[in-house]
Amino acid sequence: MKQSTYLSPTLRDIPSDAEVKSHQLMLRTGLIRQSTSGVYSFLPLGLKALQKVEGIIREEMNRSGAQELLMPAIQSAELWQESGRWEAYGPELMRLHDRHGREFALGPTHEEVITTLVRDDVRSYKKLPMTLYQIQNKFRDERRPRFGVLRSREFLMKDAYSFDTSFDGLDESYQKMFDAYSRIFTRCELDFRAVVADSGAMGGKDTHEFMVLSDIGEDTIAYSDESDFAANIEIASVAVNYKKSDEPMKELEEKETHNQKSIEEVSSFLNVDASKCIKSLLFIVDNDPVLVLVRGDHEVNDVKIKHALDAQIVEMATEEDTKQWMKTVPGYVGPLSVSDDVKVIADHAVKYIANAVCGANKDHTHYMNVNPERDFKVDEYYDLRNIQEGDPSPDGKGTIRFKEGIEVGHVFKLGTRYSEAMNASFLDDQGKTKPMIMGCYGIGVSRTLAAVIEQHHDENGIVWPASVAPFDVHLIPVNIKQEDQRSLADELYTDLQNERLEVLYDDRAERPGVKFKDSDLFGFPVRITVGKKAAEGIVELKLRKTGEVIEVHKDELIQTVKQYVSN
Ligand code: ATP
Ligand code: MG
Repeated sequence: MKQSTYLSPTLRDIPSDAEVKSHQLMLRTGLIRQSTSGVYSFLPLGLKALQKVEGIIREEMNRSGAQELLMPAIQSAELWQESGRWEAYGPELMRLHDRHGREFALGPTHEEVITTLVRDDVRSYKKLPMTLYQIQNKFRDERRPRFGVLRSREFLMKDAYSFDTSFDGLDESYQKMFDAYSRIFTRCELDFRAVVADSGAMGGKDTHEFMVLSDIGEDTIAYSDESDFAANIEIASVAVNYKKSDEPMKELEEKETHNQKSIEEVSSFLNVDASKCIKSLLFIVDNDPVLVLVRGDHEVNDVKIKHALDAQIVEMATEEDTKQWMKTVPGYVGPLSVSDDVKVIADHAVKYIANAVCGANKDHTHYMNVNPERDFKVDEYYDLRNIQEGDPSPDGKGTIRFKEGIEVGHVFKLGTRYSEAMNASFLDDQGKTKPMIMGCYGIGVSRTLAAVIEQHHDENGIVWPASVAPFDVHLIPVNIKQEDQRSLADELYTDLQNERLEVLYDDRAERPGVKFKDSDLFGFPVRITVGKKAAEGIVELKLRKTGEVIEVHKDELIQTVKQYVSN
């Protein structure tokens, strides 16, 4: 490709609206351009890189035995009503209607379409197991599109769906996808972890998220410093052996706390450690009030509340709810003399606290020297708090540390959630009708590309892993107007391409400084500079990753270049 007419607009300055490195670099190197909020065009260079990621995904999916198909982006509302998600999916679903007023959605995911497809065309156990996948644009009206294509409203996803005759079969299909994902992200040279995650509203059981480690990640991963344990903090279970304090119980005391509401304020006002405070938070769980207690130095985890109470919806109570049930405002809520209509649940740590501080259910008032059982009752103790750095790892090996992660992939056991709702069944070897057992597996293709850049760059630009680089080689004659340089560069351009190497040929009559700056920004694995020694057939080869420079004679060039590019 000749650069003089290539659509690759580079920017010298950092675009002010781009907060993270990958977004800045994707704009500066002309990989993408925003069309409207959260919606992007991929320019030729960006598309080439995206297609590299796609190629890796396709190869590994095919290798795992999955079959590629292509489903429509436009999906009818009836399909979503059948699965019960037309309402449940909420405002993220992009809805539209046709000229007859019929309702549709732009697909954010394809469980409904694939389930009906397989339902109608697969009847017998003999055809199963089967895993189908596609690579296609998805649409989600994200509340906060940000960081460029890391969280956009239209994005490229690989989504796969497995259909099995048994749960054991599902375990196998799941493992195959898990292994394929590990190979895909390894080939993209990403530093990632597969972490156990929450199965959320999808209604399945096992699920792993593939997280690329990065400070800008929106999820927090709790991992062990000694084992391979890694889980999203949403679900990591806490395995602390708390010890009962041997402090003698003191007499309950009421204290006026004038506007001191948060644990921080109260603990410094009363001069007690946060770990000796009880944080009391009112939640509305499936319409019922539930008072949740955790230690002051701990954080409540609402996913755990949901699982503990086997609930659908867990929401923080409003000020109004709090007034109604606790007779005070948030900040002074506590577990003493609570109405029988309010269920009280507590994190295990609360049981072991002695002479604690908590709200008195009276404005501007707290209690001191509160003791569980003596002063208040708890209906049930559960694990209800977030794991913290320094906690023991739940697998018994090592200590928990935190890292931020970008979710690039997700594997999920659906079970019969969709096959039952949408009647996707098969006849087993006894001729009996059974629901298919499903799994679903997503990779954000465009997000993965951004994550690669997030992990592979330096102050001068992108430093592509060879496997994802849009071009293998940047070929740069220092001065295109010098006949010997031009003719050697032309010759090499042809030779390299004949060897199926991908070359961007900077045939512009620009100053060398400009060309080299752009070249560093683009960051292809190998740069070939044709300069003063052109007449002798000698060029300079520079590796973007290490900065290493070597002189090579044109006869050895192809062989040398091939060592540094993806084959
Ligand atoms: P997130 O929690 O980041 O919103 P999700 O749980 O909604 O992700 P899935 O429904 O599992 O994501 O979709 C599969 C994959 O698609 C994700 O792992 C992610 O890589 C990608 N993805 C999801 N939403 C977006 C988005 N708005 N922009 C780019 N990629 C996305
Ligand atoms: Mg999402």
